[in-house]
Amino acid sequence: MIMFDNKDISKTSLSSLGEFGLIDHLMDNVELKNTSSKKGVGDDAAVLDFNGEQTLVSTDFLIEGVHFDLSYMPLKHLGYKAVMVNLSDIYAMNAKATQVTVSIAVSNRFPLEALEELYSGIHLACKIYDVDLVGGDTTSSTSGLIISVTAVGHAKEEEVTYRSGAKPNDLLVVSGDLGAAYMGFQILEREKEVFKVNPNNQPDLSPYTYLLERQMKPEARKDIKELLNVLEVKPTSMIDISDGLSSETLHLCKHSNVGVNLFEDKIPLDPSMITVCEEFNLDSTTIALSGGEDYELLFTVDQKDFEKIKGNPNFSIIGHMKPESEGKHLITRGNQQIELTARGWNALQDEE
Ligand code: ADP
Ligand code: MG
Repeated sequence: MIMFDNKDISKTSLSSLGEFGLIDHLMDNVELKNTSSKKGVGDDAAVLDFNGEQTLVSTDFLIEGVHFDLSYMPLKHLGYKAVMVNLSDIYAMNAKATQVTVSIAVSNRFPLEALEELYSGIHLACKIYDVDLVGGDTTSSTSGLIISVTAVGHAKEEEVTYRSGAKPNDLLVVSGDLGAAYMGFQILEREKEVFKVNPNNQPDLSPYTYLLERQMKPEARKDIKELLNVLEVKPTSMIDISDGLSSETLHLCKHSNVGVNLFEDKIPLDPSMITVCEEFNLDSTTIALSGGEDYELLFTVDQKDFEKIKGNPNFSIIGHMKPESEGKHLITRGNQQIELTARGWNALQDEE
């Protein structure tokens, strides 16, 4: 018996929609029925309001073979990172993270000791970030390891910062530096290939310590909310950088209905990241724009806060927002104006 006969039915490939197109399509016309559901799909976390303080909820999957490779990712680091990527979304709402749930699907190829390692990283992250692990689910998987973390946080109503609050002339600011996690990934992939050819080769990875740490042990920016409080700066919009600077900047523009001028020479890069880009013959701006996994925070502030942010070592002012009609542009070192696209690499290739 043919159970699924689909010869007369035309099917749409998911790749034709893309990730965000798919989410929009599935969530089309969804109405929020409960008055407590203040913000549903479309930001880093959902916002729930139960008469007062706001509760934030965010969830993410990590799938073996898609998001991580156990041939070089130690399980302890993986557990730590799984918590970080979720806390980052709570911090991106300018909120405090307080709880996580952790669900795993695991095949019998993993012994108990492997899961103990994974959980030592999860517990360490919870301890350092002052978050409680309050539940989850455990089930079997036919092949790989799947981890799903949900993070919960809270903030005062006036503190919660959405992607949608940026205004023309606001300054665009980013914490830390960009592109290092992606170059750490490139190094790990290269060493994996070398190892396949010669398993006795012991690579010297010491020049790459910072980049490898950024890839294998990222830290979510819990400190930014506190730093901005001390400076008495209220960000007007905010997002975390999981997919690369250009994609996240475009999210802020789209949700806030504004344009942007982003200055290439202002993008913060670690010296070791620049060196390794040269080694790999990659353009460092391109990597910062489209590399991803930095887990830094990207936000906008009013022009009047310029003096408070300027010169602070935690922050770089990398551009300013414009009226939507003026478009979204990268201003290159050579003072060329290039359209900013979600795939920064292609944008640069096409225009030059
Ligand atoms: P982030 O990169 O910050 O984790 P995502 O790009 O994963 O955010 O998701 C964007 C928005 O879409 C979020 O509000 C998220 O909750 C929502 N979302 C993602 N996948 C689904 C889904 N399958 N069903 C409903 N909402 C989803
Ligand atoms: Mg996010």
